[in-house]
Amino acid sequence: MQLIIFDLEWNIGYQARTFDYHGAEQTLRGEIIQIGAVKVDETGRVQDRFSINLRPRIFRKLQHRIAKVTGLTQRQLDEGVPIREGLGRFVRWCGPDAALAEWGMDDVPVLKQNLYLNGYDESWPGQWYDLQQVFLAQKPRGEGEGMTLESVVTRLGLPMDEPFHDALSDAAYTAAVCRCIDLAAGLAAYPAPEEQLRRAACPEPGEYAGFQLLSPTLSREAWREDPEMQALACPACGGPLVPDVQDLWIKRGNNGYYSLVRCPRHGAWLARFKLARPDGLHWNIARVYEKPTEAQLARWNKEKKLWQNRQKKRAEAAAAADAADAAAAQQGE
Ligand SMILES: [Zn+2]
Repeated sequence: MQLIIFDLEWNIGYQARTFDYHGAEQTLRGEIIQIGAVKVDETGRVQDRFSINLRPRIFRKLQHRIAKVTGLTQRQLDEGVPIREGLGRFVRWCGPDAALAEWGMDDVPVLKQNLYLNGYDESWPGQWYDLQQVFLAQKPRGEGEGMTLESVVTRLGLPMDEPFHDALSDAAYTAAVCRCIDLAAGLAAYPAPEEQLRRAACPEPGEYAGFQLLSPTLSREAWREDPEMQALACPACGGPLVPDVQDLWIKRGNNGYYSLVRCPRHGAWLARFKLARPDGLHWNIARVYEKPTEAQLARWNKEKKLWQNRQKKRAEAAAAADAADAAAAQQGE
């Protein structure tokens, strides 16, 4: 395995763009305009460098905020290597057994979307790492400490000769940060995507049971539509669970949902779903049951009341509209 630390700059449009991925509509997160990367050994020592500016074909006009952050100009975009050719060069430079690593989790999904849109195999790379997570596991965050690359480089007192938000210098800075930790041990202990989702679905503290994963799917709604995922059974006895309110799923965070269900023998459970899309194309969906605390029960009851009030208002508004229609029809006769 060749470890490659990389960084992307990407352009966005003034309007969202979607594309079709095997029948699933995906929102394009951005079109890559710059790639910077370094090949490193297991201590983070740099062995080779790669840098390229790309000419986008979808978001051709440099978005003003992107221009401000990256310092790139429209002319640099226009004079860049056509994106398809540039991506091909990067893929070849990396090689087939590359594992990619980045500061954060934003670049891999953008890379995979762009690979797909330009006719490359988006299942590559099969393995990637969030080095911010690796770093945090060894050097836990202190109170008030920022986790941007720049703040960490500053905190570590590393030399800062190059600008930030230039893809190659960001990749090199990330490698320098990795030389301050035990990189090999950090990568060896890195959790697989399933384990990451399990940790996200079961935050401490909490009493969890019956964790289950759905195999990666293109549909974000699979958590609600997949019969296996919706077949709720008590994790203690396997018996049927009765929902407190039929089909009421309360949103929690960006990609979580929960509902209160009851087993006649084992009492109340929170049925939870947690969604993640680490590659920008496929959803990983997990389901787990949690024994609700008093505070969680109170929160459920509050959300339930709000929802019931909304339903009631909606029904009243619909009834009023029907009555108005009926009155108008009568007058017309
Ligand atoms: Zn039970």
